[in-house]
Amino acid sequence: MNYKEGYDWGKQSLETAGVSEAELDARLLLEKICGTDRNTLLVHGDRLLTEEEKNRYQDWIQKRAQHIPLQHLTGEQEFMGLTFLVNGHVLIPRQDTEILVEEVMREMMDGSRILDMCTGSGCILLSLLHYSNDCRGTGADISQEALAVAGENARRLGIQACFLRSDLFEKIEDKYDIIVSNPPYIQTRVIDGLMDEVRLHEPLSALDGGEDGLVFYRKILEGCPEHLVRGGSLYFEIGYDQGEAVKELMEKHGFSEVRVTKDFAGLDRVVSGLWYE
Ligand code: GLN
Repeated sequence: MNYKEGYDWGKQSLETAGVSEAELDARLLLEKICGTDRNTLLVHGDRLLTEEEKNRYQDWIQKRAQHIPLQHLTGEQEFMGLTFLVNGHVLIPRQDTEILVEEVMREMMDGSRILDMCTGSGCILLSLLHYSNDCRGTGADISQEALAVAGENARRLGIQACFLRSDLFEKIEDKYDIIVSNPPYIQTRVIDGLMDEVRLHEPLSALDGGEDGLVFYRKILEGCPEHLVRGGSLYFEIGYDQGEAVKELMEKHGFSEVRVTKDFAGLDRVVSGLWYE
């Protein structure tokens, strides 16, 4: 099997299985296995895969055809220009979440203390620490398995961060300048309709935001008075239809200058506010 044949076969197999972006995924898997890039694949389409590469590629295409996420095969996902390890215990970092990180970065100061609530893979906290000066950060998550992934990501990226197993604020003692969170926010009844890649392979506990999708926002807001310094900021990622509801909740809990920021698709994505109480 040469590159071109491998690519055509992979693309065809994924298309038949109803995988969205079949073409892209076939190419990315082939590139990953052969340690090559797009141009090499195109220009050297007649180059043969080794026996080992072929077996691995066929195995990955078969798994991807069963709707296992691409990132669970490669074991990684790019986020904010950094490579994060992922597995089935963490939400795969989403491009939309980069908007949240960029919002925080726009306003954060050197030396800020940051709490990332529901840290998962650690992608938010570790990106913020990587792109800032002298900031200190804690990532909290209820899942020990997720924290193991976050810790490994910190080690690989060479970033100092503290990861803490905590059911929301349960084990958090300090006050922070910034609290940031991409909590689970999908309404329970909608979860059954999600694509197989998400529904069957990503942790339900990272997705399920309760009956109205707002359970975690309420709980996190309840903990903020005790854990945000005066003049501190709170940043939430939200679902596209939760902007108004979360803004109202934040105002009800005493936040000032609450604003909703949109993503590249023009949809509400981030709600943030200041704590002056
Ligand atoms: N903070 C992680 C992320 O944004 C995990 C979020 C979650 O599990 N809901 O990817």
